[in-house]
Amino acid sequence: MATDTILLCCATCGRSINYPRHVDRTIPKEIVKIVQGKCDQCWDGDFDGEDWFDAEGRHWMPLPEPPALSATDVRRKGNDR
Ligand SMILES: [Zn+2]
Repeated sequence: MATDTILLCCATCGRSINYPRHVDRTIPKEIVKIVQGKCDQCWDGDFDGEDWFDAEGRHWMPLPEPPALSATDVRRKGNDR
């Protein structure tokens, strides 16, 4: 079941906050928890990665961008005459 908030945890200080889901619509609705290397208070200029988890504790790899459609999906028959 999707929740309205995502639990955002910091691996450095252990702090966790509830993050409103609507702020970032790129996060899949299955994700209920995100563990950051550094939160905004621990952040020292280096971006550290995130780990995403769903309600069953499965680890998701964050996707930097949506997967592109394969060429066969978008190709159309152009030779019909
Ligand atoms: Zn922190």
